[in-house]
Amino acid sequence: MSLLRLSGVTAFYGASQALFGVDLDLREGEAAALLGRNGMGKTTTIHTIFGAPRARSGEIEFDGRDITSTPTHLIARLGIGLTPEGRRCFPNLTVEENLRAAARPGPWTMASVCDLFPRLAERAGQAAATLSGGEQQMLAIARALTTNPKLLVLDEATEGLAPLMRKEIWASVRRLKAEAGLSMLIVDKSLRELAEIADRAFILQRGQTVWTGDIAAIDDDLKASLLGV
Ligand code: ATP
Repeated sequence: MSLLRLSGVTAFYGASQALFGVDLDLREGEAAALLGRNGMGKTTTIHTIFGAPRARSGEIEFDGRDITSTPTHLIARLGIGLTPEGRRCFPNLTVEENLRAAARPGPWTMASVCDLFPRLAERAGQAAATLSGGEQQMLAIARALTTNPKLLVLDEATEGLAPLMRKEIWASVRRLKAEAGLSMLIVDKSLRELAEIADRAFILQRGQTVWTGDIAAIDDDLKASLLGV
């Protein structure tokens, strides 16, 4: 069953069009990668799912419901957990306070996210601002998990991090797929790590979905022509 479906979605920033027809269909229990070179509309697609900017045309469905016009603050409550680009946390709250602030009932609790990210347990009483970049990213993912989402969206979760931190985060995301079977939409440039987690991929070019398929089917030609690698 389809959990998230975008069909023909267009979106604008003011007068400037950023999305020209995004099609994406993520099934329940599936991890999918949203790929494309810089500026092709990956982050805008995610923001449009959350209604800011709002889709100008096309349709967005989540969990069997049309959310194209649903107010942003209600979309997260329907069960989409977002770890935004830039790992935003409340800097003056402690790790534990950050985790409890957004929590909703379900299997993801302070204890279970600390099992996934043991560093957070060690730093539970520390202000988020004092964490390293990688730890803040772990906190951002953990925070999204404590909302107990049906779908977790990760936008550039490993960008700019040291290799060791990247490795730890990818290991946890792999566990989310393998052990928890969580549905995920992941934007990242690390194709190699994504290939170990994602079932399928959607590739955007100039704000449009130009390729959909099994992530293992992305060959060197596609990498060169659509991903610039
Ligand atoms: P990156 O990998 O660099 O993050 P992306 O694929 O996520 O790129 P977007 O950030 O979605 O791409 O950008 C898509 C287009 O929309 C680009 O042309 C970008 O310049 C433009 N854009 C993004 N954010 C804004 C904004 N707030 N206002 C105006 N234009 C924007």
